[in-house]
Amino acid sequence: MLKIAILGAMPEEIEPIVATLRDLEEIEYADNTYYKGNYKGQELIVAYSKIGKVFAALTATTLIEHFDCDMILFSGVAGAINTDLKIGDLIIADGLCQHDLDITAFGHPYGYVPEGDVCIWADNKLKALAKSVAKAKKIDIKEGVIATGDQFVADPKRKEWIRETFKSDALEMEGASVAVVCNALDIPFFILRAISDSADMDAGFDFDAFLKDSAKISAEFILSMVDRLVNDTSGQYHDLKTNE
Ligand code: SAH
Repeated sequence: MLKIAILGAMPEEIEPIVATLRDLEEIEYADNTYYKGNYKGQELIVAYSKIGKVFAALTATTLIEHFDCDMILFSGVAGAINTDLKIGDLIIADGLCQHDLDITAFGHPYGYVPEGDVCIWADNKLKALAKSVAKAKKIDIKEGVIATGDQFVADPKRKEWIRETFKSDALEMEGASVAVVCNALDIPFFILRAISDSADMDAGFDFDAFLKDSAKISAEFILSMVDRLVNDTSGQYHDLKTNE
């Protein structure tokens, strides 16, 4: 059976998922709690990493190396860059980059370090699955580049710089580090975000007002994807590692 891991950054992002688990087990590891349980016959391992790139990388690595998961599905909220994205809208990460990674003093582009990539691409089959789920649910879902950095962006100028530099549609604080880990360890990953704010002057206020609702929208969509993974008989999701 597939071992599916679901990751969020904050408690609010995983609570709607943990609430659906039966035979819930809480496992303490590396200074964090991992929730293992049964969802419609499928074993899920769920965790929130805490905020930011380092915690997200630690938790993604633990899910792979310690809990032996076959894929990571990330569920959470993000600030919108693309003006088509309104609060509560969903975005599928196509590529992910680190907007705060900067060794441009040496002539390198923003987001790049030697032997790394500016942008890391999420798994194609999982993205296709998400689009198919959205179609069935008649949800208008966007796909685009997500920019990640250790910074809550509440500044139109910074937001515009990130949009321009990375051609990105949304921003948050964990996605690209999960992408780096999964890419290095050859584990398929998928990152979904529901918009909680627009990374502008009102972002702090909007975030607090909409975190819970947007986190739930993302979590419910991820569970619909798991429904499809659980019911899949084609086996196409068992060997995503070979998928390009
Ligand atoms: N209110 C929280 C901090 C939230 S940080 C506290 O006080 O503890 C924002 C979280 O939501 C991060 O996990 C990030 O991934 C996401 N996020 C949503 N909007 C964002 C924005 N405008 N800038 C950066 N991250 C954002």
